[in-house]
Amino acid sequence: MSVIDLELDPFYGAFIDGKFDTDARNRAAASDPATGEHLADVASCDAADVDRAVSAAAAAFESWGRTLPEERSRALHRLADLIEADAERLARIDSRDVGRHIREMREDYRMAVEQFRYFASIVLAHEDFGRPIPGGYSIAKRVPLGVCGQIIPWNDPVVMLAFKLAPALAAGNTVVLKPDVNASLATLEICKHLSAVLPPGVVNVVPGTGTEVGTAISGHPGVRKLAFTGSTEVGRLIAEAAAQRLIPATLELGGKSPNIVFPDIDDLDAVVADATAAVVVCNGQSCLAGTRLFVHEDIYDEFVRRLVEHFAGLVVGAPLDEDTDVSCMISARQGERVLAYIETGRAEGARLLHGGKRLAVDGCPTGYFIEPTIFEATATMRIAQEEIFGPVLTVIRWNDYETMIAEANGTRYGLASGIYTSNLNSALETADRLEAGSVWINHYANLHGGTPFGGFKDSGLGREYCRETLNAYSQLKSITIHTAAEKDS
Ligand code: NAD
Repeated sequence: MSVIDLELDPFYGAFIDGKFDTDARNRAAASDPATGEHLADVASCDAADVDRAVSAAAAAFESWGRTLPEERSRALHRLADLIEADAERLARIDSRDVGRHIREMREDYRMAVEQFRYFASIVLAHEDFGRPIPGGYSIAKRVPLGVCGQIIPWNDPVVMLAFKLAPALAAGNTVVLKPDVNASLATLEICKHLSAVLPPGVVNVVPGTGTEVGTAISGHPGVRKLAFTGSTEVGRLIAEAAAQRLIPATLELGGKSPNIVFPDIDDLDAVVADATAAVVVCNGQSCLAGTRLFVHEDIYDEFVRRLVEHFAGLVVGAPLDEDTDVSCMISARQGERVLAYIETGRAEGARLLHGGKRLAVDGCPTGYFIEPTIFEATATMRIAQEEIFGPVLTVIRWNDYETMIAEANGTRYGLASGIYTSNLNSALETADRLEAGSVWINHYANLHGGTPFGGFKDSGLGREYCRETLNAYSQLKSITIHTAAEKDS
């Protein structure tokens, strides 16, 4: 698909108070990581832009913060409809902007739309509550927090956008959002839909770098809540900024998730396929990827043989090819980082079972296409401890249950995990023992609106994607009423 068919603007300024800035002191080029083709220019904003955005959001909060849930619900449903109607074009923009393959990007838009509809629905039942007190009555009223500063990464642009905007808006807040410099185009296009359904200033999008725009948002005195998705290292900086100003922060951070195969699985090929999808999702650039596969000794040799065969059958290809299973890394930098980890794996003695190289793909001269890679490793190796963020799986053999559980829990992360077994007791006992925010039994990444998502340990604080998230975007105000009868008594 040509750039013209994407209907992109040649330049995107910050989206503040319902309009795009038409000029910018600094600009960054957005280009297709696979082909190198220039897609558009995007403003590289600064602290002054963030200040204007926060002012616009604060002014909009005066009325948006007082709307009834019904009005916000209608706006979110309309936004979901508009994004859904435009999803194919937007998915293609994301596919070209971040290099992920088109079938996955379509699925991301389905999830994002579902997310807006989910919060549009549950906010109607997010009720205030009251109770009688001696001689009167007390009301606990949920009130929004104000301007929320939201910072998102590049790997899942529209899912991250929906995870952040939908609950914040449903709860009555206004937003200043920063997309990643490598993945702003679809977010900025979605601003056009936002302006069709929301009053100016309710959502403001300020593109730019983390050091300039991200720090300006996290340190801004007008911001009343922070929500961040990204690396654990930057997450700590956000938590520090929130602590300084005593405001809440939701942090969705990295992962190195265990995926555990018991010897009693019914359908080995189905588990091989599911465990493969768990690691190649987003070309491996996913916080929830199941990158540490623990396979029981009794089935290890046959399982790993079929796993290698399955990996060999994956189609590594151009992002817009419908047949592609794995496409390219977001950038040369990320590609080099993944290749360096593959070298680390070899150097520390892990056995390379498949892949390990950069591949050339026709028509994609600049793309870093990394062969889906399998290492046989031990649990303490660096490649089994650190987040690689590429299509690299470490397989670890297990036989003793307690050792396996200790190793599965033996990283600093605790975002997600998987279990494959036909034994209910093994499944439930293991689910209880794993230190992870999500445990998926017999189907990895089984995520749906309403299933809480977030991490234990260094994988974050707070939960998104669920009813609890609305509470994190509001606070309780207690109003008590003394009746005349009580005064007389
Ligand atoms: P990153 O932390 O470098 O960047 C994430 C965002 O933070 C970007 O928008 C970036 O510009 C901004 N940023 C960078 N430095 C900043 C600073 N000092 N202050 C404020 N903002 C700053 O992460 P990344 O490498 O771009 O993304 C990958 C990471 O995100 C991985 O660790 C991955 O696991 C994690 N992630 C987590 C989830 C989740 O839900 N848990 C989802 C997707 C990605």
